[in-house]
Amino acid sequence: MTVPTPTRWDELLRRLAAVPPEDIVCECDAPLASRTTLRIGGPARVRASVLSRDGVAALVSAARDTAVPWIVLGRGANVLVPDEGLDAVVVQLEGALTGIGVEGRRLRAGGGASWSRVVRASIDAGLAGIECLGGIPSSLGGALAMNAGAYGQEVLDVLAWAEVVEPDGSVRRLDRGEVEGGYRWSVLGRGRIVTGAELELLPDDVAAIRDRARQARDRRLEAMPSEPSAGSVFRNPAGDHAGRLLEAAGCKGLQRGGARVSERHANVVVNAGEASAADVRALIGEMARRVRDAFGIRLELELKVLDRQARVRTDPGSL
Ligand SMILES: Cc1cc2nc3c(=O)[nH]c(=O)nc-3n(C[C@H](O)[C@H](O)[C@H](O)COP(=O)(O)OP(=O)(O)OC[C@H]3O[C@@H](n4cnc5c(N)ncnc54)[C@H](O)[C@@H]3O)c2cc1C
Repeated sequence: MTVPTPTRWDELLRRLAAVPPEDIVCECDAPLASRTTLRIGGPARVRASVLSRDGVAALVSAARDTAVPWIVLGRGANVLVPDEGLDAVVVQLEGALTGIGVEGRRLRAGGGASWSRVVRASIDAGLAGIECLGGIPSSLGGALAMNAGAYGQEVLDVLAWAEVVEPDGSVRRLDRGEVEGGYRWSVLGRGRIVTGAELELLPDDVAAIRDRARQARDRRLEAMPSEPSAGSVFRNPAGDHAGRLLEAAGCKGLQRGGARVSERHANVVVNAGEASAADVRALIGEMARRVRDAFGIRLELELKVLDRQARVRTDPGSL
């Protein structure tokens, strides 16, 4: 009788099984659609609930040693998971990595903390700087990785430092000056996992902060569709708005299968029913083609369109 040679996945699971359940809990063939705001996509070969910084370091080291791909997901508000699922470890930060605390003008939170709870805690403490960002579905780590922003505020503007696990499994604290980033990107989202961060905010009158938060929420409710979506699909090109170009190119209401361009916002694709990832990709490709043909502008993706190995596909023309 021949004994099968253990695969890299067997080796990875053996390594993870040796990590205490206080640090990591794994699930195989784990459904992902309900963990994304688009509600689309097949299962993860392995989903790891990681509950501590040591757990994150152990997981990243094990994945590196066994050459198994991984991706960290927050609220899944900016990703498209393929219909076949991800042949990768999907890391989600939970437990001790979701805490939030305020001391003076500084707010510290775990990488998996709910962004809306972070914003609420800042407002309750009379601290300004992120009050207009409360409606962005996100985790703290996702908000830092994407440098989430709206209505004149951006997360990197208030970052004091971030704690990250590097691709080799080492833990580092990066001060603001070491964190490169700009419009909808930061180095924190490049091969690293943000396990926690401290934000430095400005004390202000609570009523004034609440007022700004309310105005931002009202504007968002008016602009964004209520159906499941992943927010903006394309980045704004320099000096223009992707939504304006897409609307002018006749994209509003365009449909492929169950995926539709929102009537409210031409840069948002909604899951109008049983949309598949293939429907969304086909629609995105058509939107990019229309803008290129009408204006000669090549739109770039803001949405992270993932392939089976959880790599980000960047060219909307080849989806
Ligand atoms: C209705 C709606 C409205 C939106 N409005 C806005 C808006 O106004 N402004 C805006 O900027 N965005 C907006 N978005 C997009 C989205 O909410 C943001 O990009 C958000 O910050 C994504 O966070 P997430 O935790 O869901 O990350 P995910 O979507 O899960 O992941 C996004 C990227 O971040 C990485 N990532 C996640 N967590 C971590 C971590 N701990 N460490 C390192 N990398 C990590 C992922 O690997 C992935 O590359 C909107 C989305 C929706 C659905």
